[in-house]
This record gives sequence, C-alpha cells and structure tokens, in this order.
Amino acid sequence: MTFDIKAVIFGGVGFSIAKDYHSRIISTPYGDVTAYITRMNGCGVAIIPRHAGAEEHTPPHMINYRANVWAVRKLGAKRIISTNSVGTMKDHPIGSFVLLGDYVDFTKNRISTFFDSETVHVDMVEPYCPQIKKCLADSLEKKGIVYSEGIYVCTEGPRFETRAEINMMKQFGDVVGMTGVPEVILAKELELCYASICTVTNYACGLGDGKLKLTVDDVVDALRSAQGALMGVIADAVSNLSNGGEKDCACGDATVGARV
Ligand SMILES: [Zn+2]
Repeated sequence: MTFDIKAVIFGGVGFSIAKDYHSRIISTPYGDVTAYITRMNGCGVAIIPRHAGAEEHTPPHMINYRANVWAVRKLGAKRIISTNSVGTMKDHPIGSFVLLGDYVDFTKNRISTFFDSETVHVDMVEPYCPQIKKCLADSLEKKGIVYSEGIYVCTEGPRFETRAEINMMKQFGDVVGMTGVPEVILAKELELCYASICTVTNYACGLGDGKLKLTVDDVVDALRSAQGALMGVIADAVSNLSNGGEKDCACGDATVGARV
C-alpha cells in the first residue's frame, strides 16, 4: 500500500484507529514513531496516537512530541489535524467540539523547540492553520454538530488543575488540556499546517454540575460517545483539503524572517 499521505492525525486519549491500516515505523532523530497508514474518503492519511510509546499509555508530560512532529515531515505530509480532549472553563456542552484559535502555555518541563543550536523566533500570531480550521468548521456545520471556537490553556499535568488555577485560567482561556503544547509550536517550526479539534470531556475542576472529583472514566466515556462524529468530521475535512486545491495559508513560511 503506497500512496501520498495528505494529512496526519494526532490521536488523543481513546482515539481508535481504523480497521483497515498498515503500520509503519518512522525513524526520527528523536526516536521511532509508529504511524498507522489508512484511507479516509479515498485520501491517504496517517494516524499517530500521541500517547503510544514504550509504555502502554505515555503520560502527557512524557510524550515524545519532537519525534511525533518530525515523523509528519518524514511521511511527506504538510498538514496535521490534532485531536485533543479538554475540560471546559466556559460551560461548553460535554461531548461538543472546540476549534482552537489561540493558546496560553503553562507547561513547565517540555522541550518545545527543534532549534537548540541557532536562535529562531517563530511568529505565533496565528498558531493554528486557518485553512484546516475552516475545513473542520465547514464540516461541523454541514453535519449540524455543536461546536465553538476558543483559546486553549495547556497545563503540565499529569495531575488535574486546582480550583484556584481554573479560577485564574478561565479569565483568559476557554478550555484546558495537557497535550496541545508543544505540538503546535513544533509544527510551526517545521512549517507544517496544524489545527486542533478538541472534544469537551468534562468541566474543569470546581466548575459544572457540582460534582467535585474528576475521574478518568468521565473523560473516556465522553470521548467514546463523540468518537464517531469526530471521525466523520475529520474525514470530511481531509477530503475537502485534498480536493480544495493549493494551500492558501502562510504556515509554510513560518521561519522566514525568524532567524537571528
Ligand atoms: Zn496552514
């Protein structure tokens, strides 16, 4: 099975891989990555489950983000559609979707650049690819699926946030998660298009229906029920991107003028 990979999907918690695929080990300077090559609506895609690794489920702060993003370039793809699970700080319905427009980074111990031996300041005025985002939005609208757009706050994890942290972060963010950064930065540094569709799986700590303790089961249950819709939206977006002609975004020039 050899065909062009039109897009790579970064699968989050609970993301299941299509039945008909072949797996490929991609070697990168940062380690090996397993990609699952398949077709969606006739278009070649690769799925990289970001939590996969030596451990059964790599925790968010230990994910090999640089290897995963480098593997996209090695696959010859230019576009990444990221799926992330998030807690809502703004009363989004559980199971609804949020397309990201911007982010605030509260991670602490992650390597968030490929550029260790030269100084490169990539521009972050538009972190997420507007063209992919529009295709995702069009697909959600066409299917009549509830969604909104918002700002993502990325925390280090793996613990959930405190109530005090959420009270602070809800003043400037809409949803909170642990895996969106540094992926978005690394993709930008490699001049790849990157967009994220988040599934709202829970209320952030201390918010919502009065239930105080947040459990992993709550998150996984919400993800499972949203999975079918999510796959449909992504498949639609991939075929629209593939058939929609050339890229009309500036993602491919992200490092132009960025070097000191
Ligand atoms: Zn783009």
